[in-house]
Amino acid sequence: MKRGWRWLGLSWAVLAIGTEAAQCFDRAAQSHRFVVDSHLHFQPFSGPALPHEELIGYLERAGIQYANVYGIGQTRIQDWGCFHGGRCDSDVIMPTMKNDFLNAKNLADHPSRNVGLTLSMTFPDLQHPDTIVDRMDILDSEFPGFFQWMGEANVVKQALFVWGHEPATLEDIDAWAPFMAKLRERQMPLALHSDFGNDQDPLKYLPLMQAILERYPDNVVVWMHLGMSREQRDMEPRQHTRILSELMDEYPNLWLDISWNVLYDYYFSEPTRRPFYVDFLNQYSDRVLTGTDIVASEHTGYSQYERALDDTSYINQFLDDNAFRNIALGQSYFNLLGWDKSAPAICTKE
Ligand SMILES: [Zn+2]
Repeated sequence: MKRGWRWLGLSWAVLAIGTEAAQCFDRAAQSHRFVVDSHLHFQPFSGPALPHEELIGYLERAGIQYANVYGIGQTRIQDWGCFHGGRCDSDVIMPTMKNDFLNAKNLADHPSRNVGLTLSMTFPDLQHPDTIVDRMDILDSEFPGFFQWMGEANVVKQALFVWGHEPATLEDIDAWAPFMAKLRERQMPLALHSDFGNDQDPLKYLPLMQAILERYPDNVVVWMHLGMSREQRDMEPRQHTRILSELMDEYPNLWLDISWNVLYDYYFSEPTRRPFYVDFLNQYSDRVLTGTDIVASEHTGYSQYERALDDTSYINQFLDDNAFRNIALGQSYFNLLGWDKSAPAICTKE
């Protein structure tokens, strides 16, 4: 630990006194891992969490400079009772405020030193939106100034159907208006998990995202995982990127997230599929975020975090310099949050 501190101190000093040339990012010599994990769940689906400080230790060790602190939008609500002698037999999951309180308390108790953290409200139940504004107010009054983001919340997540989750309906989406207005006021991005479709019906749920964008064009919406999931391993890349491009062109407040190793496993690692995504990301990188999408629990070790980081960073090596700076070095993330901060320029070749 002590050595880590000294090393960090030294590297900051070198950065501080470095010349302009030394400060540029040399892609040939430096890692293509990203430095902003904008999609990281600090609270698990079920069971005890990894201690906050331990997870921050992982991030420091992996070279992560900024991270979003998510709870998780699907929680086994009986956990606490269950761990204290109650019943453990419920198969019902729900979004709850529990994670948001825990994360906010952890941030209050452990001010971060080396990793900049952005705290997110993960509680919204998009299928029952009437309570969202009141709950935003509760979190804001308990932890004033702490929360700057909302999500990841689930519009439709097929993996959760066995746990009682149902897709938001068009009526639900209409009823989002009050909290969407509050998000606009607060300039808070809303990160949504919304499956595109599945391998049997590739565009099945696309109309939901289209409805959200049509109804709320002035809200910043971050669409997670390019809409992909384990239920959709065979989306046709040309059609996929064409539809995404059309939406990105039509809705300037739409952002995309390329976190989760599902994208690596079925799309980015496939040499015949990858080029479509590289072209797409090069074109729209100023509205693309990335992250590991690790759901940390007490069982999550550093090697698991590192492997997710390597998988989700894999695509970065194929990006052009501009897209690399925007996505891997975090410039798009800084811009989205309105931070006056510049990622290093990419060193130009002699
Ligand atoms: Zn996630």
